[in-house]
Amino acid sequence: MSQNENPLVVAIVGAGPSGFYAAEALLKALGPAVRVDLFDRLPTPFGLVRGGVAPDHQKIKSVTAVYEKTAADPRVRFFGNVKLGRDLSVDDLRARYHKIVYAVGCESDRHMAIPGEDLAGSYSATEFVGWYNGHPDHREKSFDLSCAGVAVVGVGNVAMDVTRLLACDPEALAKTDVAGYALDALRKSAVKTVWLLGRRGPAEAAYSEAEIEEIAELPTADLVVKTSETVVDEVSQGELADPAVKKKVSYVQGHAALGEGSRPRKVRLRFRVSPVEIVGEDGKVKALRVEKNALVSDGKGGVKSVGTGEFETLPVGIVLRSVGYRGIAIPGVPFDEKTGHIPHAGGRVLSAAGGAPLPGEYVVGWAKRGPSGLIGTNRADSVATVAVMLEDMKAGTPDRAADVSAEAPLKLFAAKGLKPVQFADWKKLDALERANGAKSGKIREKFTRVEDMLSALGSGA
Ligand code: NAP
Repeated sequence: MSQNENPLVVAIVGAGPSGFYAAEALLKALGPAVRVDLFDRLPTPFGLVRGGVAPDHQKIKSVTAVYEKTAADPRVRFFGNVKLGRDLSVDDLRARYHKIVYAVGCESDRHMAIPGEDLAGSYSATEFVGWYNGHPDHREKSFDLSCAGVAVVGVGNVAMDVTRLLACDPEALAKTDVAGYALDALRKSAVKTVWLLGRRGPAEAAYSEAEIEEIAELPTADLVVKTSETVVDEVSQGELADPAVKKKVSYVQGHAALGEGSRPRKVRLRFRVSPVEIVGEDGKVKALRVEKNALVSDGKGGVKSVGTGEFETLPVGIVLRSVGYRGIAIPGVPFDEKTGHIPHAGGRVLSAAGGAPLPGEYVVGWAKRGPSGLIGTNRADSVATVAVMLEDMKAGTPDRAADVSAEAPLKLFAAKGLKPVQFADWKKLDALERANGAKSGKIREKFTRVEDMLSALGSGA
């Protein structure tokens, strides 16, 4: 590659899938005429692929080979353990990059707004997922799995992941990259029943068919569904025109006929029930009270649930709400509290929802469209934002005056006493994790604390 004298210099904030796909799209579109610096608040790259995708889904995680290729490109630098809003300000980036792309995902979660959500034993799926994946934000949490029943609220694919991890044979995880402490806890788990709770009907379930099938096929657990709850309501009949929905509904209807089964654990998939109260005793979760729902038109072509006044109490010691993620506001970056992500028009960041575009600032991935889609969905999404960026360049939208030299961020780090973790450092951590894992036959044993990562790298990082 010949070096371009005046390349476009882009900061991408967040080295998860959408950040890497944005980098890839920029490299492809601009050849030697671009340089990309990828920042991440963690010393490790790959975002949700490392910290979100379930350890028994290694095939999905193998997408990191594509990101590695991008990172190895000489036009790309990785600056890990540098957090926007803590270590650097948006103005620091504005002064040193022509363009900024926010690829910061949705790191928090939504609440159910019901009594008892603060009890010990009530958690978000985000916390549980982060815990079993060894994410530094969640590794110090502990989940008391000595109870017999767990309720998982929501029936999206995250709910499927956490249910599967609770219902599977932990030995099936023993060779994966599941955090060692989580594997120990899962081995000691007394959980016998996982209640999977959908507030609407089987036609509206958010899970993919493959994910519910995977639960049904666990050798350790029966998927138990009540025949009466798999009946498709009058108001939902139209949804059956979609062959994928029809297939998903037929699957659970067929499954309901199998009854209780004889496997040691049960996953009780329920439809048309909404949690109304987490019941506690001595500050701990003891049960979950749910209300049965009826489905009605939402007046916008969709279907919503309404309570019927009929209640039921489920005996559970843990409630995991898996009702969707939301973003976290970053100082200096516009944030729409209502939607929980960065306001934008086609990927151009707006000063506020409905406001004017901020020149040179763009957004990709979950931070752009909210928490939806599979890992690969982010590729097309990032390509679309990069296309908009290229349009702005062609239209001559002025870039901010900036010292865009390759040294400018390095000087800033030095001035602030920051020592970013570079991609070569990550490769050292990667090798150490693989070697540590190999000692117990695992793919890798992750570093789960930032300080451990930095000390493994010595003072150089
Ligand atoms: P999701 O697909 O949006 O599912 C959220 C679930 O929570 C829905 O069932 C929703 O029901 C329910 N819900 C929302 N508010 C509720 C409330 N107040 N009370 C009860 N239920 C409520 O979100 P997700 O599961 O977090 O997944 C996020 C994205 O990541 C999805 O696109 C998913 O496919 C993807 N993902 C994929 C995989 C995989 O491929 N293996 C794994 C994990 C995640 P309603 O439909 O009624 O709103």
